[in-house]
Amino acid sequence: MGSTGSIGVQTLDIVRENPDKFEITTLTANSNWQLLAKQAIEFEADCVVIGDQRHYDDLTAAIGDRPIKVFAGEDSLCSAAASSEVDTVVNALVGYAGLHPTMAAIEAGKKIALANKETLVVAGETVMRAADERGVTILPIDSEHSAILQCLRGECSPVRRLIVTCSGGALRDLPREALDTVTPEQALRHPQWSMGAKITIDSATLVNKGFEVIEAHWLFGIGADSISVLVHPQSVVHSMVEFEDGGIKAQLGSPDMHLPISYALMYPHRATRTAERFSFADNPTLTFAEVDREKYPALDIAYDCLRRGGTAACTMNGANEEAVAAFLSHRCRYHDIVGSIRHALEHATFTRRPSLEDYEAADREARELARRYLKL
Ligand code: NAD
Ligand code: MG
Repeated sequence: MGSTGSIGVQTLDIVRENPDKFEITTLTANSNWQLLAKQAIEFEADCVVIGDQRHYDDLTAAIGDRPIKVFAGEDSLCSAAASSEVDTVVNALVGYAGLHPTMAAIEAGKKIALANKETLVVAGETVMRAADERGVTILPIDSEHSAILQCLRGECSPVRRLIVTCSGGALRDLPREALDTVTPEQALRHPQWSMGAKITIDSATLVNKGFEVIEAHWLFGIGADSISVLVHPQSVVHSMVEFEDGGIKAQLGSPDMHLPISYALMYPHRATRTAERFSFADNPTLTFAEVDREKYPALDIAYDCLRRGGTAACTMNGANEEAVAAFLSHRCRYHDIVGSIRHALEHATFTRRPSLEDYEAADREARELARRYLKL
């Protein structure tokens, strides 16, 4: 799901490298029907789904008379995730749109390789409970969480602390005062990773790191007080786990999402890849620093949302999605992103034990509050 995006395209690279291990049944995208058709033809998919219904006719024409079924709309996305032909769903959608397809895949008992962290930010409690009840495995694609999973393999003693590393994003070398006038173009220039636009902005504000703390909590069942964030500009240590005996395990490698993607797809095995090997001699300096919490208030806001539970993180996510879209189209300033999040959290209805409908309502309300704050 989301095969035309940054994670989607790299997932298909892994499939292309391992034709004997994988068979693509369904591919989905929101609007890029040209690439979706090209991928479906290359991988001989049985079915394609385009989220935006307006592209249905173009997609159908591009598929021609090949034996590939074409569907459109969100409901088809959820049906595709639950199809009996599928055993693993890779969720590489961006934003809140990933939640319902994840739930559909869980209800249908599919193994899930999850890039869409917003699924867990918005509704981690509900999602993990449903996965637990169905005996569904959720394997993280996010590099930090893949690293933590790799560090936890083979351990049976309690964890003292998860240490989530953070590149610092595109604005890490700018002084706090300079953030007032930052443009989307500046914030999109990520020093280490080439990713979709939304997550690149989330990395610049550190909303992404805050979301990863919440994601780590739900995936690994570790409390907010035992998850810390450490700036590591080289992005070589992908995250670490500290145990009660003082030992710390880290997972290292070049910043390349193909590794966590292939790990999630082949777990508990590993892929054989010919990619360039990491050289310690060429990278002799690895540095670490605390996060500047005044420059990046979003991190503490995310911790607060995790501690409050209920719909708090869903509200943060909804407001963030609206504000990031506005920032990317030059309709608000950089600081308005955190401003919108704060405003939404202050004024939103808080539900302590939300149902899926409550998340839906909280997301809608957060977006409205953000739009009002941004005067859109
Ligand atoms: P992207 O914008 O490059 O791709 C998103 C994909 O989802 C596209 O195929 C798009 O067509 C589809 N999509 C978007 N909105 C949709 C909607 N409403 N309905 C149906 N389809 C829709 O994003 P990305 O960078 O690949 O990120 C995907 C997810 O993975 C995000 O949750 C992100 O946080 C997470 N992630 C990405 C990276 C990375 O390196 N890109 C790393 C870690 C985690
Ligand atoms: Mg990450």
